Amino acid sequence: MATKKAGPAGRFGARYGRKLRTKVNTVEKIQRGKHKCPYCNRSTAKRLSPGIWHCKKCDAKFTGKAYKVGE
Ligand SMILES: [Zn+2]
Repeated sequence: MATKKAGPAGRFGARYGRKLRTKVNTVEKIQRGKHKCPYCNRSTAKRLSPGIWHCKKCDAKFTGKAYKVGE
């Protein structure tokens, strides 16, 4: 039942207002995507929990920001 604008915040349906759902979409797309590992420099790091990241290439577990690895 995916709609065009829904994105990750589509689970909220019509609730919580447009602006908030747009913001949630932005953050969640970033946090779930691949991030650059500071050890091997490949974009293979994924978020385990807020601030904790894991690189599947070199198996490094490291801290970063809550929703992305760094600036
Ligand atoms: Zn790595």
